[in-house]
Amino acid sequence: MIRQYELVERVKSYEPGADEKLLNRAYVFSMKAHGSQTRASGDPFFSHPLEVAGILTSLKLDSASVVTGLLHDTVEDTLATLGEIEEGFGSEISRLVDGVTKLSQFELQSDKSRQAENFRKFLLAMSEDIRVLIVKLADRLHNMRTLNYISKDSKRSKIAMETMDIYAPLAGRIGLHSIKDELEDLAFGELNSSARTSVLKRLEFLRAEEGSLVPRVLAGLNQTLKVAGINCQITGREKSPYSIWVKMQRKNITFEQLSDIIAFRIVVENLEECYHTLGIMHKQYPMVPGRFKDYTSTPKPNGYRSLHTAVIGPERQRIEIQIRTKTMHEEAEYGVAAHWAFKQVKGLGDGSKKYRWMRDLLDILDKAAGPEEFLEHTKLEMFQDQVFCFSPKGDLIELPQGATPVDFAYAVHSDIGDSCVGSKINGRMAPLKTQLQNGDQVEIIKSRIRAPSPTWERFVITGKARASIRRFVRFKEREEFISLGEAIARKTFREHDANFDESIIANHVSSLKGLDLKDVFAKLGSGELTSHKLAEILFPTRGLESIRNRALSFVRKRSGEVKAGDQGVPIRGLTQGMALHIAECCNALPGERIVGIVTTGRGVTVHTIDCESLAEFGETPERWLDLSWDNTSGINKVHIGRIDMVVVNETGALSDVTAAIARSQGNITNLKISSREQDFFELIVDVEVQDIRHLSEIIANLRLVQCVSRVKRNRH
Ligand code: MN
Repeated sequence: MIRQYELVERVKSYEPGADEKLLNRAYVFSMKAHGSQTRASGDPFFSHPLEVAGILTSLKLDSASVVTGLLHDTVEDTLATLGEIEEGFGSEISRLVDGVTKLSQFELQSDKSRQAENFRKFLLAMSEDIRVLIVKLADRLHNMRTLNYISKDSKRSKIAMETMDIYAPLAGRIGLHSIKDELEDLAFGELNSSARTSVLKRLEFLRAEEGSLVPRVLAGLNQTLKVAGINCQITGREKSPYSIWVKMQRKNITFEQLSDIIAFRIVVENLEECYHTLGIMHKQYPMVPGRFKDYTSTPKPNGYRSLHTAVIGPERQRIEIQIRTKTMHEEAEYGVAAHWAFKQVKGLGDGSKKYRWMRDLLDILDKAAGPEEFLEHTKLEMFQDQVFCFSPKGDLIELPQGATPVDFAYAVHSDIGDSCVGSKINGRMAPLKTQLQNGDQVEIIKSRIRAPSPTWERFVITGKARASIRRFVRFKEREEFISLGEAIARKTFREHDANFDESIIANHVSSLKGLDLKDVFAKLGSGELTSHKLAEILFPTRGLESIRNRALSFVRKRSGEVKAGDQGVPIRGLTQGMALHIAECCNALPGERIVGIVTTGRGVTVHTIDCESLAEFGETPERWLDLSWDNTSGINKVHIGRIDMVVVNETGALSDVTAAIARSQGNITNLKISSREQDFFELIVDVEVQDIRHLSEIIANLRLVQCVSRVKRNRH
C-alpha cells in the first residue's frame, strides 16, 4: 500500500502548490469510512481507493482528482454522504465524487454489445468534467488488476467484457493509451486466455531464438544517433499480446510476418530533431516501403502525434520506429490528462480549470479529419440534447432532452406505450409528464387494457409517442361511435316496428355513399348522420317522423290531437275534450310544475311554470289554467329530455357518459357532438325519461362523471 506521505509527495512533485492538508484529510476520511471492509483479495477495502489515487498520480492528475480517487467509493459503499464530502472537501470535489458515483451506478448490466457504443456515449455525456471519466477509468484499471481475486467465472468475464467493449475504447478516445493498453491486455487474459498464452509462448520462443534482441538493437540505434550528435532517449519494447493478436486477426498474417512485434521509440527535444532523426534512420537502414506515416503534420483524431516508420534494423530484423518530442510522448501516453497537466505546470492561469478540460477534449475532437471522425464529433455535440435512461433490465434508451416516461415507454415498444398507466423513476412513483434526467432508471407500470390518454399529447416530445397516441385515440373513438351508432340504429328499427337487420342497412349502403356498415354506425354515433335521416333512407314509405318528434308528441301520436281525459293523458285540471300541446319552448316533463295556456281553436299549451314565454300572457290571466301531472294514471309514458354537456376530450369519455346514463335507466335516442375543441367537446343528448326526477337523476349522475365538466338541461 502507498503510504500517506508518499501519495502527498507524488502529487507535490508535479503540482507544487497542492493542498497537502486536503490530501491528508481525504486519506484519513476514506480509510475511516471504509473501516473494516475488505476486498475479494482479502486486502482492506481502503487499498482500492488508495491504488486508484496512485494511478491518478502516475497520470499527473491534479490534487482534486487524486482526492476524488481516494473518496470515489465512499458515497456508494459506506455511510458517508455527499453532504459530508461537500462540507469537508468543498463543492468541486463533491461534484467530482458525485459524478464518479453516478457512473458506477450504471455499469452495463448485460453483455449486449450493440449497446456498447451507446454506453460509451452515455459515459461521455455523464462526465461533464473529464476528470470524472479519468477517475472512473483508473477505478476500472485497478479492478481489472485485481480481477483474478473474484471467484465467480461469470462475474469475471462480464467485467472483462465491459472493459473491452467500453472502458478501453473510451480510454483510447481521450488519448489515455497507457491505460487503454493495460485494460485491453487484462481483459484479453480473462476473455481469451488461451490465445494470450499462445501469443506469450510464441514471444518467448522468439526471444530464446533471437537471444537478447532488444538490447542489441537498442545498442545499435544508440550508437548510430550518438555519432550523428542527436541527444535522445531510446526505449525498446515488445508490443502487447492483445495488439499482436488483433493484428494477426485483422491482417490475416502469421506470427513470423509480424515485423512490429518489437517497437522502438526515440524521444527527442523538438520537431526539427524528429525529422533529422528520421533522415538518419532512413539513411542508415533500409526503409520498409509503405510503412512511413507522419502524424506530426496530420495528427490522429484523438490528438496523437508522432513519426512512424519501419526499417531493417542493426540486427537485420524488421523493426518499427516511433520518433516524437517529449511533449508528443506525454500526450500520446496520457492524452488529455497530459495536455492539461502540461499547461498547468507552465502556469497558465487556472481560473477556468474545469472548462479547460472540456475545451481540450473538444479541441482534440475538432481536429477530426475524415467524415467518420467528423460524425463522431457531431455526435458528441448532440449529446447535449439527449438523455440516456435505463429500463429495469438495464437496457439503455436514448431519448431527446425533455422526454417523459411516456416517451420512454413508446421508445421501448409501442405496446408498452399503449398500456402505460404510470411510472417509477429510480424506484419512486412519478407523474407521467416528469422530464427524465440522464441516468434515470425508468419502470413503466402497465395495465391490461390499452388506453393511452389524449392528454399525453400535451407533454410527449418524441414523434413516435405522439403518432401512436393519436392513432390509438382515433381508433378508440371510432369504436365508441360504432357501438353507439349501432344502438341508435337498433332503436330506429324498433321505432318502425321492424326487426333489426344489418342486411337492410347493407342494402342501402349504396345510397349511403359507399360506406360500409361500420362507417354507417360510426357516422350515426358521431351525429354526422341523424337517426331521422337513417329512417328516411331505410323506411322511405312509412311517412316518417323523427324519433324525437314521435316521442315528444306522444299526445298527438295517438290520434292526431288527443282530448283531455282520454285514457293515458297524465295531466289533471283539464276540461274534458280539450286539445293539449306540450310547448316546445320548455318541453315540460312529468313532475315539473306546469300551467296551461288556452288558445282559442288550438286548445291548451302546456308550459313549465318558470317558462320565459309565459311573460307574454301576463296580461291575460283568464287564459291560464292550473294543471298538474297525474301520477296516479300508472301509465309509463316516455318523454324526451335533452341534455347539454361539455366533456373533456379524452379516450373513454363518451363511454363514461353513456354508461352513466344507462346506470340511471335512461335510454339515449340521439346524440350529437355540437362542437369539438382540442381539450373539450360539447354534446347534445336526447334521453328517454319518465319524468323530471328521472332526468334530474341522470343529470346528477353525469355530474359525477370525471370527464364531464358541465351538464345542464336543454329545454329547446
Ligand atoms: Mn472503486
